[in-house]
Amino acid sequence: MIAGRICPRCGDSMIRGQSEGMFVGWREDGMSGATPTIKYMCSGCGYIEERAVNSKYLKKLK
Ligand SMILES: [Zn+2]
Repeated sequence: MIAGRICPRCGDSMIRGQSEGMFVGWREDGMSGATPTIKYMCSGCGYIEERAVNSKYLKKLK
């Protein structure tokens, strides 16, 4: 878990969202995969950033 994230727009602190999303896509080698994503919201300006939990190693779709 990443603690103490800072908003890239206003420099305020960002709050980790409770709900996880899912990114699904195709890698360059043609393998499809998915990885969960987590959203962070800035408590100052409301900017929302969504990040993949594991961006390099996509899980194979079953
Ligand atoms: Zn902000």
